Amino acid sequence: MVNFPMAKKLRSLLDKSFVPIEFNSNLVCHSWQELETSTNNCQACGLYKERTQVVAGRYSKTKAADLLIIGEAPGQIEDERGLAFVGYSGKLLDIMLDAVGLESYYITNVVRCRPPDNRNPTKSECQSCWGFLQSEIALVKPKAILCLGKVAAKTVFGGIGKFEKLMRSRHQFFEYPVWVAYHPAYLLRQPQLSQHSPKWETWQVLCRIKLYINGLRLESSDR
Ligand code: SF4
Repeated sequence: MVNFPMAKKLRSLLDKSFVPIEFNSNLVCHSWQELETSTNNCQACGLYKERTQVVAGRYSKTKAADLLIIGEAPGQIEDERGLAFVGYSGKLLDIMLDAVGLESYYITNVVRCRPPDNRNPTKSECQSCWGFLQSEIALVKPKAILCLGKVAAKTVFGGIGKFEKLMRSRHQFFEYPVWVAYHPAYLLRQPQLSQHSPKWETWQVLCRIKLYINGLRLESSDR
């Protein structure tokens, strides 16, 4: 459950250039049902005007997943189906997660409505949708978070600067460890598999997350 002090604390960790809209308790959801109803009726930013439908998070097993993956915005196929990462990018991501053995994941986006012409969501649109994303983080309660692309990194933990550098470190957002990787839409345009290519770098990040989550499992089974 996300309460007011928690929401304030979450926001205080954001990049200084990210100035959130005033806290709006109507945008903080305490249950999955509330999140679904609130997002489906949302008109908090202009993206609602051209959406076919609001795009919900997709999960592999249960909503309470080990790994929460956050992309930027839905594309055309997601807009039509109302589910995150069900297009070509999502297929590539599923294959990579499967290959690494990351079985329990929940995938969502910084904004839930498709921006026209697949442009990046603006800072103001990300701020408008932030209440839903922070609700989702608190409802999933993941062991780790993976931000796909610059917009997600900047929105979630204020990650700015050289993307390659961001990818090499583990970050922290509230109690959640956060990693950063290339968005699969970008990877689809990068055929190289050589060392230090974007696909190779992303693969390294997924392996680090897998090791981290496995480590937590080992710790809890020792008790
Ligand atoms: S993108 Fe988010 S804030 Fe904007 S209308 Fe859609 S659900 Fe509401």
